[in-house]
Amino acid sequence: MAVPKRKTSASKRNMRRAHDAVGVSAMSTCPNCGEVMRPHYACAHCGHYKGREVVATGEV
Ligand SMILES: [Zn+2]
Repeated sequence: MAVPKRKTSASKRNMRRAHDAVGVSAMSTCPNCGEVMRPHYACAHCGHYKGREVVATGEV
């Protein structure tokens, strides 16, 4: 069985775990109005999705 030759130092262990707390932010930018929006959802600001308006907003 393959076994590590040396004990992983606290430094190397902590370097490996440095990215463990980094999460994925579920946010993207609306290409129509530039507002921050949830991906795969119609934009809450302008109602656009995939380049066209799919949800009517108060604006004309
Ligand atoms: Zn938008």
